[in-house]
Amino acid sequence: MEKFLSNLEPFKEIIFVTRPVLPKIEEVTEKLKDIWEAKWLTNNGPQHSMLESELENFLKVPYLSLFNNGTIALIVACQSLRLSGEVITTPFTFAATTHVLSWNNIQPIFCDIDAETMNLDAEKIESMITPHTTAILPVHVFGTPCDVEKIQEVADKYGLKVIYDAAHAFGVEIGGEGIGNFGDISMFSFHATKLYHTVEGGALVHGDKNLKARIDLLKNFGIKNEDEVVMPGINGKLNEVSSAIGRIMLNYVEDERQKRKLLHEIYDSELSEVEGIKLMPKCGEDVKLNYQYYVIRIDEKLFGKSRDEVYDEFKKYNVYTRKYFHPLCSEFTCYRQLNSARKENLPVANKIADQVLSMPMYGELSADDVKKICDILKSMRR
Ligand SMILES: *Cc1c(COP(=O)(O)O)cnc(C)c1O
Repeated sequence: MEKFLSNLEPFKEIIFVTRPVLPKIEEVTEKLKDIWEAKWLTNNGPQHSMLESELENFLKVPYLSLFNNGTIALIVACQSLRLSGEVITTPFTFAATTHVLSWNNIQPIFCDIDAETMNLDAEKIESMITPHTTAILPVHVFGTPCDVEKIQEVADKYGLKVIYDAAHAFGVEIGGEGIGNFGDISMFSFHATKLYHTVEGGALVHGDKNLKARIDLLKNFGIKNEDEVVMPGINGKLNEVSSAIGRIMLNYVEDERQKRKLLHEIYDSELSEVEGIKLMPKCGEDVKLNYQYYVIRIDEKLFGKSRDEVYDEFKKYNVYTRKYFHPLCSEFTCYRQLNSARKENLPVANKIADQVLSMPMYGELSADDVKKICDILKSMRR
C-alpha cells in the first residue's frame, strides 16, 4: 500500500495533463463521404481551400497557408524569408522552435525570458544582436502574448525579421486584433494536443500576398507548374481528411475555450492563497486569451516541496502533470555547447524551468476534479 500525505483518495482513473477535443464521429463520416465522392485526398483540394479561408476569418489575418504540422511550417517560414546566420530566440519553449533553426543551418542565440510572462525578454534582445543576426523568433508561451511592440521596435531599428511561434496562441487577440498580425510571419500548430487541431497540422499567417505565393511553392516541392520547379521545396501539404476535421473543429473551439476558462477560474481561486504557488501571468484587459494551458510555478523554499517532488507525488494520486518546459532547449546536448546557452546567461529561464508544472486542463475535466487536484496540491505543502 502506498502511503498518502492526507486522507484524499487517489483518482480511480488517470487524470492526464490534457485530452484531445473530439468531434462527433457522425460529423466526420459525413465529411468523409464528400471526400470519397470527390476522390481528391490531398494536394490543395476543396476541403483545404475552404479551411484556409475559414481560418483566415477566424484568426482575423489576411493570408494563411496550411501545413501538415507546425514544425514544417516554421522551417518553411525561415526559408521563405531567406534567413541565415543567427536568430535570437527563447530557450523556454518546445524543442521544435530551436530545431527549425538548425534545420535551416541557422545558429540559435538564446536570450533570457521575462520573470512574469515567461516570454522572451524584449529588453534583452538588443544586447544579443551581432552583424550575423537576421531575425527574432519569439514564442507566445502558454498563449500569453509577447511584448509585440517592443520586439517590433528592436526589429525595425536593426532591420531584422520577426517570426512568432504562436503554437500556443490560437484565437488569442490583442485589442481585437488577431495575434497572427504581429511580426512578419506567425506559425500556428494544429497538433491534437492543442486547443484547436486537425489531428496533425499547422499554418503560417502573414500580410503579404507575394509571400503567400512563395510559401505555397515551398510547401509543394517548389513545383510551379507541370514544366517548372523553381525552388528546393519540401512536402508540407495538409491532406483533405485533416482539413475536413479542421473545418468541423472550428465549431468546437469556442465551447472548449469557455469550458477551460471556467476551470482556469477554479484553479485561480483555489490556489491564489497558497504560499509558494505562483499562478499564470495576468494579461491586460485588452487581451483575449485562449486558456489552453494552466501552469503554476512552485517556489521550493516557500512551498516546502520541489516541483519534482510535487510531480512525483501527484502521480501517486493518478494525476499526471507535465514539467513543461523542462529541460530548457539550451540544456539539450545538441545546443548546450553554445555560448548563449550558458546557465549564467539565462538565469531567469533556468530558475523557471525548475519551477513550472503544467496542470491538467481540458474541457471534459470536471470542476470537482479540479478542486480535488487543488486539495491534493495543498495537502503537499510543508
Ligand atoms: C506544438 C508546438 C510546436 C510544434 O508543432 P507541431 O504541429 O507538433 O509540429 C512548436 N512550438 C511550440 C511552442 C509548440 O507547443
